[in-house]
Amino acid sequence: MNLEQKVRDAFKSRFAGQPAMIVRAPGRVNLIGEHTDYNDGFVMPMAIDRSVWIALRPAQGRRVTVHSLDFDKRDSFALEGLQKNQSKWLEYLKGVAWVLQEAGYTLAGWEGVLTSDVPIGAGLSSSAALELATARAFQAVSGFDWEPKKMALLGQRAENKWVGVNCGIMDQLISAAGKAGHALLIDCRSLDCQPAPLPAGVAVVILDTATRRGLDSSAYNERRLQCETVAKFFGVKALRDVDVATFEARQGELEDVFRRRARHVITEDDRTLKAAEALRRGDIGALGRLLDASHASLRDDYEVSCQELNAMVDCARDAAGCLGARMTGAGFGGCAVALVEEARAEVFAQSVTANYEKAVNLKPHIYVCQAAEGAEARPA
Ligand code: ADP
Ligand code: MG
Repeated sequence: MNLEQKVRDAFKSRFAGQPAMIVRAPGRVNLIGEHTDYNDGFVMPMAIDRSVWIALRPAQGRRVTVHSLDFDKRDSFALEGLQKNQSKWLEYLKGVAWVLQEAGYTLAGWEGVLTSDVPIGAGLSSSAALELATARAFQAVSGFDWEPKKMALLGQRAENKWVGVNCGIMDQLISAAGKAGHALLIDCRSLDCQPAPLPAGVAVVILDTATRRGLDSSAYNERRLQCETVAKFFGVKALRDVDVATFEARQGELEDVFRRRARHVITEDDRTLKAAEALRRGDIGALGRLLDASHASLRDDYEVSCQELNAMVDCARDAAGCLGARMTGAGFGGCAVALVEEARAEVFAQSVTANYEKAVNLKPHIYVCQAAEGAEARPA
């Protein structure tokens, strides 16, 4: 059963009546542009066809009551006098209510049923999907205009300031502003978004290594500092402002590890811009090669890959129908992403599953995806 039907039916049985609206917000995968966001650079994610769904109707009083089907729990909060507490999943909804009110929106209460097929904690940003679905729910019952960029910034603020996770803007922006059949080239300095069409016949396959070590804060801070140091060396605000030719002319003056870190970021920005151009001219082969090059750069220069991610990328490239593959996300575990001929995607998934399991003795999770539309609200 699709999730729209599932939340609709569950609403009827849990709240004894019809929902008035259905809202949805997608998870995402980043196709290319890794560790470029905090260097004011470019990223190119797409929204995936996996979403958080809420069926809801306006409620009496300024209260929000939500039944989470995935956690099999009902919880509620008043819109006045919001306080943080322990109930983890509800905090994302309260955080969004808090930022919207702080930004001057007058909110109405609602009751709803929530479910999702964005895997939780797999790096596909179920949290941003939940924030944007919540924002859509408030927009639908409170009747203000939907401004994707503004909602994305508020969702990010909710995650930063209420939930306490220091994320960038990419996840919320793509969940809010994704375009079906397209990736989005995002300029992380201006937040300008340019859609880039994914050709028909291509699937984006997410390959979860089933490892969750993650980039710890010291490794992350060290890399940020290295990037800032090289930006200073070039006399610019961020590495985004150094082009490949400028870098190459002076790279001999840099110490090896600083040179490699900067080379990753500067060439990754270049690859990301080239990837968007490749999509505009329908050259999927070129996009695949850019993904391959991105992985090599993250592995060798930025040093944020790991044995499992490298094994996964190797398995993907060895499988028939693969056009390119790389790690995606911060690194040291999590997911890889592959570009695959759609007709061969299922066979590809089987082959990668078997070979990855043989190589590292872990069961991967594989999601064959299409590029989806960003957050939506419609009458139920
Ligand atoms: P991710 O990489 O998936 O974004 P996070 O740790 O950032 O992982 O966010 C996951 C959290 O978001 C969950 O622990 C939960 O609190 C909330 N969440 C995600 N999906 C759901 C859902 N379907 N129902 C309720 N809460 C959810
Ligand atoms: Mg998250």
